[in-house]
Amino acid sequence: MEVKYCIRCGKEVDAKATVCPHCGAALPALEEVNRTREKELNNIRSPWTAAFLSFLVVGLGHLYAGEIGRGLAFFIFTVMFFAFSKVSLWFAPLFWLASAIDAYHITKKKNEGLL
Ligand SMILES: [Zn+2]
Repeated sequence: MEVKYCIRCGKEVDAKATVCPHCGAALPALEEVNRTREKELNNIRSPWTAAFLSFLVVGLGHLYAGEIGRGLAFFIFTVMFFAFSKVSLWFAPLFWLASAIDAYHITKKKNEGLL
């Protein structure tokens, strides 16, 4: 007998059950659970790759993590800092570094399902 675990009480139930015999919770089909899990695994990205990409090109790591708007914002701000001001030239490398660190953390959070 194939088994799955109740999403509410955590007890073992028959894989074909649609309702938990222990607590009465409605249960998703096993194939559905596996499909969701597979989708999650496909979405796993390496935080280090994200950081590395952002180090190569500001914002690229965010694109890799699927955070397109945030990646573009980092890119535009960093280019502006480099291009338009002598004072803020100091900020550009900081932004660059921040972009890589942010890409790392965002990717990690997304992997853990927090975003
Ligand atoms: Zn249950």
